[in-house]
Amino acid sequence: MPETKVKKTQDFNEWYNEIVELADLCDKRYPIKGMNVWRPYGWKLMSHIDQLIRDEMIKTDHQEVCFPLCIPESSFKKEEEHIKGFGNEVYWITHAGLNKLEEKWLLRPTSETAMYPMFSLWIRSHADLPLKTYQIVNTFRYETKQTRAFIRVREIHFFEAHTCHVDFEDAEKQITEDKEIAKRLFDDLCLPFIFCKRPEWDKFAGAFYTISIDVLMPSGKTLQLGSIHQYQDNFSKPYNINYEAEDGTHKPCHQTTYGMSERILGALIGIHGDNKGLVMPPMVAPIQIVIIPIIFKGKEKIVFDACDSLYKKLKKENIRAHVDKRDTTPGNKYYDWELKGVPVRIEIGPRDLEKKQVVLVRRDNGEKKFVSQNDTVKTIIDEFDMISKDLFSAAKKLLDENTHRVKTMEEAEGLKGIIELPWCGNEDCALEIENILDGNTLGEPIKKGECKDSCPVCSKPAGTWMRYAKTY
Ligand code: ZN
Repeated sequence: MPETKVKKTQDFNEWYNEIVELADLCDKRYPIKGMNVWRPYGWKLMSHIDQLIRDEMIKTDHQEVCFPLCIPESSFKKEEEHIKGFGNEVYWITHAGLNKLEEKWLLRPTSETAMYPMFSLWIRSHADLPLKTYQIVNTFRYETKQTRAFIRVREIHFFEAHTCHVDFEDAEKQITEDKEIAKRLFDDLCLPFIFCKRPEWDKFAGAFYTISIDVLMPSGKTLQLGSIHQYQDNFSKPYNINYEAEDGTHKPCHQTTYGMSERILGALIGIHGDNKGLVMPPMVAPIQIVIIPIIFKGKEKIVFDACDSLYKKLKKENIRAHVDKRDTTPGNKYYDWELKGVPVRIEIGPRDLEKKQVVLVRRDNGEKKFVSQNDTVKTIIDEFDMISKDLFSAAKKLLDENTHRVKTMEEAEGLKGIIELPWCGNEDCALEIENILDGNTLGEPIKKGECKDSCPVCSKPAGTWMRYAKTY
């Protein structure tokens, strides 16, 4: 069977660009650069990822909201650092019909400045706290770098949670919960990741601190999938988000946010895919099982009946199945569903039925086995579990083998992936290392592993490690 034109193992970036369209995830021909069309298969996949996020939000008592897309300039301008950070990236609306607007509006690049004037009206007393909200909406950022489907786009499919708390400690508890959510979510997606505390000069505009969630792509570059921010009262002060405490005094709230995007999909494609196409984790695969009838003349009916009967059994167990009855060869069908990354294929032919069995083939490793018709559903559920574990292990191996903790610049030379070096805490030293490695600063590990070595630039004692990588 033919494979993709470009091999993942030879040219990862080209392979990625090809596969997102071949597998019907998106169409990049829309006439605005960086604004791609979600095709049904891609949108279904994204909606399953969104559902996992929604489930986590429900589990942790967050309430879903939906704010307007447009933000008036005056609301946007209240937090100074925030404008500095986003000022060059926003799209402005200046006219309504033929009339020039008295006050410009912008398309949200993120929703702090849309939500917080409203939060200041909603929150009155300590009894209103914590306020835990989230939304899944599109946001807009004017990207000037080269765009790439799901990884660098101008219209972003965005998840954002915004919370308000009585004090810093309560907001810190939220950050702990956010980290647990990331662990569960990315386990389901079979994506091992690292948390990095972003350096001061590269944190979110207006945040007290930022923790990023990064994965390593097979190209050796890291991809940031999400970020968790502690704002302290940096936003609540300019936006007047105050509450009356039990003792009658008025205090500013402490706030956090949590952001993720369709980059998660980019990571799934890049990390799990292979030369034949996508490999979808069973939890989010739009189709989890494809059933292929193997037709012989005169035996069509018994084969189709057996396929339909299995389909019904799977449906009863809430397994997303599809019977491919198209009038084409089984080989063509295998090729199409391998390209789309369906985790398990079942083949049913007349000879299998005589033996009361079906053929099961795993997409991830090609393993083929015969399964008794009576055990098919149970076996499939077990296979999902094994596929998820194996996908995670393979991705973990990639991450571990390409993470290097070294002490000197000589040792760092020529290494691919994530490089950890001792850091004295000085910005200039980190920036010089960025230059030498031609990479970016990711941040410090959040578990403060004490570093007893010295900074490779200034030789002063390093209290911590700093991570560097080439990034998307
Ligand atoms: Zn230094």
